[in-house]
Amino acid sequence: MKIMNILKSPHIRMENPEVVWKKIQKMHEDGADKLMFISDFDCTLSKYKDSEGNRCNTTHAVIEGAMSVRHPELADKAAEMDKKYVQFEYCPIMTVEEKIPYMVEWWENSHNFAVQAKLTRQEVAEYVAKSRVYLRDLAKIYLKKIEENGLPHIVFSAGVGDIIENVFKNQVGYIPKGLHIISNMMVYDENNTCNGFTEPLIHTFNKNSTVLNNDMLFYEEIKGRKNVFLLGDSLGDSHMDLGVKDEGVALKIGFLNFNFDTLMDKYMEHYDIVILDDQTMAIPLEILDYILEKSSFENSVEDFKLSAIGKVEHGQNLIEAKASH
Ligand SMILES: [Mg+2]
Repeated sequence: MKIMNILKSPHIRMENPEVVWKKIQKMHEDGADKLMFISDFDCTLSKYKDSEGNRCNTTHAVIEGAMSVRHPELADKAAEMDKKYVQFEYCPIMTVEEKIPYMVEWWENSHNFAVQAKLTRQEVAEYVAKSRVYLRDLAKIYLKKIEENGLPHIVFSAGVGDIIENVFKNQVGYIPKGLHIISNMMVYDENNTCNGFTEPLIHTFNKNSTVLNNDMLFYEEIKGRKNVFLLGDSLGDSHMDLGVKDEGVALKIGFLNFNFDTLMDKYMEHYDIVILDDQTMAIPLEILDYILEKSSFENSVEDFKLSAIGKVEHGQNLIEAKASH
């Protein structure tokens, strides 16, 4: 059974394989009609690093790159600012409440730089085409599978929505049907020059239904879809399902892209499955295939646990080996 193969991956970690298996089983039983998807974009649908280990761009980095063409001084200021605030975002000691004011400040400043640079719609599109934002390997298949099955997919991003739209157009060929981007969208004047961003501001820690508006068109589409397949890469992403009505099962998959040793415990607390240092969509795709399969189960919880236990041990060894160097 292919679902068992994912457990052989050296990249997977689970705090409680039994709970994970029960969730997957329930989602399979409830079927596609009850299923919806919520995904983060930066370093979740897109890669954190390429095959040579070089860092890829986030949507905000693309904006900074586009600014640097005509306004290198603004791009430098923005980069300086990022260094300061990213420490707060990933600080393992601060609470979310303590982090939020810093996040708001960071996002507001960053949007102001883009407005000061008077970025145009065309500059943004051109810069995306040459930037290093890559969808994860197998992401195109993953996105198309969701689309072909008529399943609603919310891409919830604290990045910049215009960049995400352009990446989908360039790398998938179009924006998949049923995919809704909830993000900070650039607002343009009559000359297609950016003069602001949409409200409310979406930052790392308010990516949930509190920023959604009841008039949003997809509300009808997600009605009654109580099971949530959630993908994220930051700790805040694990709460993107907050406020989903009558939520049934939420399967939360988190990509841990760096600082494995210090962040692993927190990620295990927040996510059902943690995918460690893997720039592909292989594991979510296997699970999705299994959930959408029409046939009945062949595996028991015991099979799943047995497969997983070996992996957790292997993972611990891997982490210890890393820590000792
Ligand atoms: Mg992200």
